[in-house]
Amino acid sequence: MTTPTIAAPTTAVGHPAAWRWRLPYLLLALFIGAILSLVWLVRSNDLEEQRATLINDVLWIEQNLRFQLDKNADLLAELGPDLLGEDGMSYNAAARATRMIQPGNPVRQVIWMVPDGSIGGAMPRLEVMPPPWGEAAAIAELPSGALFRLAAASGRAVFGPVYRAIGNDVRFAVFVPYYRGSEFAGVVIGIHSLRDLIIREVPWWFSERYELSILDAAGDEIVSKSKVDALATEMEYQIPLDPPGRGASLRVRPYRAQVRWVAVLLGGAIALLGAGVVWSVWQLRRHMVRRQEAELALREEYAFRRAMEDSLLTGLRARDMEGRMIYVNPAFCRMVGFGEDELIGHAPPMPYWDPDELARTQALHEYVLARGTTGDGIEIQLKRRNGERLDALIFEAPLIDAQGRQTGWMGSVLDITDQKRAQRLARQQEERLQATSRLITMGEMASTLAHELNQPLTAIASYATGCLNRLDQGAMDPDEMRAVLGKLGKQAQRAGQIIRRVHDFVRRSEPKRERLDLNAIVRESVGLVEPDARKRAVDIEVALTDPLPFTQADPVMVEQVAINLIRNGMDAMKAIPASRRRLRVGTGCTAHEVAIRVADQGSGIPPELARRLFEPFFTTKSEGMGMGLNICRSIAELHHGRLVFEDNPDGGTIFTLWLPLSPK
Ligand code: ADP
Repeated sequence: MTTPTIAAPTTAVGHPAAWRWRLPYLLLALFIGAILSLVWLVRSNDLEEQRATLINDVLWIEQNLRFQLDKNADLLAELGPDLLGEDGMSYNAAARATRMIQPGNPVRQVIWMVPDGSIGGAMPRLEVMPPPWGEAAAIAELPSGALFRLAAASGRAVFGPVYRAIGNDVRFAVFVPYYRGSEFAGVVIGIHSLRDLIIREVPWWFSERYELSILDAAGDEIVSKSKVDALATEMEYQIPLDPPGRGASLRVRPYRAQVRWVAVLLGGAIALLGAGVVWSVWQLRRHMVRRQEAELALREEYAFRRAMEDSLLTGLRARDMEGRMIYVNPAFCRMVGFGEDELIGHAPPMPYWDPDELARTQALHEYVLARGTTGDGIEIQLKRRNGERLDALIFEAPLIDAQGRQTGWMGSVLDITDQKRAQRLARQQEERLQATSRLITMGEMASTLAHELNQPLTAIASYATGCLNRLDQGAMDPDEMRAVLGKLGKQAQRAGQIIRRVHDFVRRSEPKRERLDLNAIVRESVGLVEPDARKRAVDIEVALTDPLPFTQADPVMVEQVAINLIRNGMDAMKAIPASRRRLRVGTGCTAHEVAIRVADQGSGIPPELARRLFEPFFTTKSEGMGMGLNICRSIAELHHGRLVFEDNPDGGTIFTLWLPLSPK
């Protein structure tokens, strides 16, 4: 028995398992957070690296400048002997000094001072300089005294402060003392242009990357080398520039980093992907919500249909194309007494098939699987689990799937056991009634005949007795005799008339002709005698010629003949073993006639009895009446047909009722 349980939906949309819905979003947020952190880390690493490079580069350039200045100081020191020698300035000194101040070299002027602090000379000469940058002014500009003394005292090159000069140039001086032996011999001063120094010493690649500036002690920019103005000020690096020192400092700023396309693209791609993932998760969620709603609707629909099926009294069962059971409803399970689990997946033969009807059921099963059933359905006998017989009416229809393909057969099964029993009872009753009424009619006929014939027969008997008496007495008057015999003859004629009249009365019941299918008659008759046959262990085999032409006949009468012949056949097989009690009932036709054939394997008919078979009241049975075949032949004749019999080659007898196709 099926107990349908329709589970209520476990999760209403967005309720108990809400965390499960939110989990993807949470994970997504974590994922995006992790990606952003990664990008930020990479970026700060990158900045750190840039900063380290910047510092390295700044240190390098600072070192480079210091090296250049040191080198210049050395060159100036080398000029000392030539410029401040005992012999005065040599020609060679002039040439070397000129080389030092040639364009491109940061040294713009070389001045030398003798030990008393006065100017020994200058290259180029000081007087060529326009006022107010005359020699005096220039010297006045220089804190020359202090520096001179410092250089003389320390014996090392001393750098002067940075100052602004003509042409927006920025300069500083380097005082290099010269000793002749251990005697101070003067100072060689190199006036450096800071701008030229920067232009000459800062390589192109450095200025491509950075803006380099020299700031004074107040932090104001005094010289700068840059190609682009836009700067990334957040990463500048500043160190003191010593030499020349005195508050001057070197500031380097990287140009605004070029747009880092890789990072931008990467970031963009991540953002795009993130948005895509969010969108698809959202779409997925919408889809799932819709799906869940559809599922809910489907469940409700399923529950509704299930309830409908469960309330049905009609059995429903579905089978696949091989006949294997794929669905049964509770009504069907109740009908056959087997559970759903016992039936689902079961292949034929089914447990509810009647073992006595196995061959017929199998044939029917194959027939139905091949072409389904007609609108009238198919009657079949099944067996319940408890052994009771079940008469069922089955309607079979193709089971079509969503693609329009047939996947099996859907059958509805009606339990018609009670109707069938009622029908059988009614038929048996009617049959008994008919038999009784026949007996009554015959009884009445017999008593009428007895009564009617009694009088003429008595008269004939007494006339005959009178005649015999007269003959015995020898007083035989021929005239008297003729008169008596004449009376006797009249009485005999009267008796004949009575019989004819009764015969006429019988003949008067004309058959009610109608379009008749002999196959239907045979089925009907076999159905009627089946219980009796079962009792007598007779196997009735029906072999119908289908289609069979129709005939015009009285169905009740023809059925009476068929039943009579079947009963006689069964009676004839009483004495033979049960295994051989086989009665074949069939139909057939020729061009003009249709026939019902009943063939038994019984005792057969001895030739001496054959002649008398159709006589009224001829019987070899203790309880027989001997009217059956007689009436059957009358019925055949009434329909202008014939009733014949012949020996069965398999033993027994074959009776055939022939009826004309068209009425005469
Ligand atoms: P009843 O059946 O009452 O005897 P019937 O007229 O039907 O009357 O049959 C007359 C007799 O014919 C039977 O008693 C039987 O001896 C014989 N008979 C009829 N049918 C067959 C048969 N199929 N095989 C052998 N004998 C038969």
